Amino acid sequence: MVAQEKTLDDLFLDTLKDIYYAEKQILRTLPKMAKAAQSPELKKAFETHRDETEGHVERLTEVFELIGKAPRGKTCDAILGIIEEGKGIIEEFEGSPALDAGLVAAAQAVEHYEMARYGTLKAWAQQLGHQEAVALLDQTLGEETKTDKLLSQLGLTATNKKAA
Ligand code: FE
Ligand code: FE
Repeated sequence: MVAQEKTLDDLFLDTLKDIYYAEKQILRTLPKMAKAAQSPELKKAFETHRDETEGHVERLTEVFELIGKAPRGKTCDAILGIIEEGKGIIEEFEGSPALDAGLVAAAQAVEHYEMARYGTLKAWAQQLGHQEAVALLDQTLGEETKTDKLLSQLGLTATNKKAA
């Protein structure tokens, strides 16, 4: 059987489904990370980003709408693996002074995955002439980047405390 010709539109839709699935998983995971965090600042960062993540899901549904597709997720093994590693850290480092540093590391892996996806989707949306989608994807990319920077700061605090 001859493979059907796939286009950049197909790739864009597939990747949109991937990050849509991932965002929904992240939405369920952030409260658990907030609960596990020891420092009030880290707890708050996770709670704030949980709220932002609701907006990310909402923006993605708008992007689906813009390209005339129904919002649908597609299992993303990458995010499931990253989340699983985070769970492992919570279990293994419970009650340890290094727990927060581990949570920051796990969360940064999530943010970097998102940044990679949104960066790519934004470039493809540009290529495909979906200008409104570019703006929506860029807004979320900005929030992921800002969160990653905040986590870097909180990571320093966490490791400094541990050293003290
Ligand atoms: Fe997100
Ligand atoms: Fe995020």
